[in-house]
Amino acid sequence: MAQARPSPNPHQPTPPNAPQAGPGDAKPDPITWLRGLPKAELHLHLEGSITPETLVELSARNDPSPLSLDAARAIYSYHDFPSFLLCFKAVTERLHTPVDYELITYNMLRELARQGVRHAEAYISIGILYWQARLDVDQVIDAVERGRTRAKAEFGISLLWIVDAVRHFGLEACARVFRKAAELRRSYPSMIGIGIGGNELLGPAHEFRDLYAEARAAGLRLTCHAGENTGPQSIWAAINIGAERIGHALSAQDDPDLIDVLAQRQIPLELNITSNLRTGCCPALDAHPVRRYFEEGLMVTLNSDDPPFFGANLLDEYLLAHRGFGFSLEQLRELAANSIEASFLPPERKLALLGEVERYGW
Ligand SMILES: [Zn+2]
Repeated sequence: MAQARPSPNPHQPTPPNAPQAGPGDAKPDPITWLRGLPKAELHLHLEGSITPETLVELSARNDPSPLSLDAARAIYSYHDFPSFLLCFKAVTERLHTPVDYELITYNMLRELARQGVRHAEAYISIGILYWQARLDVDQVIDAVERGRTRAKAEFGISLLWIVDAVRHFGLEACARVFRKAAELRRSYPSMIGIGIGGNELLGPAHEFRDLYAEARAAGLRLTCHAGENTGPQSIWAAINIGAERIGHALSAQDDPDLIDVLAQRQIPLELNITSNLRTGCCPALDAHPVRRYFEEGLMVTLNSDDPPFFGANLLDEYLLAHRGFGFSLEQLRELAANSIEASFLPPERKLALLGEVERYGW
C-alpha cells in the first residue's frame, strides 16, 4: 500500500480547464456559494469528527493532567491505512463518559451546520464501544440523541445514525452490534441503518450476507465500506449482500462491468477524496476517479469521512472538486442534490430539501 500523502490543498489555483462559475453574468465567490449550498453529508464517522479542540475539551473534563492543544494535535498522525486505524482508536479512547458522546455529537453538528449541511447521516461505532467495554451502549445512545436534539433545535440540521461494526473484529462481534442496532431501531427512529467499516482485507463483505439480511428484516438500511483498500471484488460483494450505498468505491474504476452496474442501478457512492489521498488508498489527486465516475453517470456524492484526521471538511471537498477536478458550481449543485436523493430521509423531506437545492440562487 502506498504511503499517506500530504493533504491536498483545497485552495490550490484553479486549473486552466476549470469551468465558469455559473449561468448568466453572476460570478459568485465559490467558497461563499458552496457554503450556502444546501447539502447532505452521508459518510462521516462520529468518532472521526472529533477535532483536536474537542479533544482538549474532553481531556479538561476527564484527565488529571489535561492535554494541551499541541499534544492533542500530535495524536492525529499516521503514515498508512493500518496506522490511521490505530490513530482513530487513540482518539476514541479519549471518550470516557456518555456525556462526552453528547458533546462530540453536538460539536459535529454545529460544525456541519456552519458548512451549509442541512442533513447528515453519521456512523456511530458501537463495535468500538463493545470492544472497549467501558461504557453502557444504551447510555451512550441516550447521550448522542440529546446532542442530536439540541443541535437540531439550535441549528436546524437533521441527523440519522448508521450503526457501524468493525469488520476486522470478526463476525461474532459484528453480529452483536447489528442485533443491538435492530433493538435500537425499535426505540429510536433516528437509528436508520447499519454498515461495516475497518479493514476490508480482514473482513470481506460476503461473510456478512446473513447479518445484512437480518438487519434489513429489522427495518435497517444497509451501507457498506467497500473498495477503499481492496479491489472491485469487494464492491461486488457489498452489492451482493444488499448494500444500498457504497462507501469509497475507489476500486470500481478498475472494473468496467462494475461501472456499468453502478451506473444502471444508480447505486449511490459515498466518495471521500481527501480521505483516500491521506490514507494512501489513492496515490495522487489525478488518480482519483471522482470526475470519471461523474462523467460515466454514476450516482456520486461527496463526503468527508473523518475530517480532522484528514484536514478537510465537507466544504473543502466541494471546493476540491471545483478547483482540482473542474466541477462547475452547477455540477456541484447536482452533487448536492445527489446527496439529498441518496439519503435515507423520508420522501417528503427529500423533496423539500431538493427544492431548496434547486432554488438556491447565485
Ligand atoms: Zn468511513
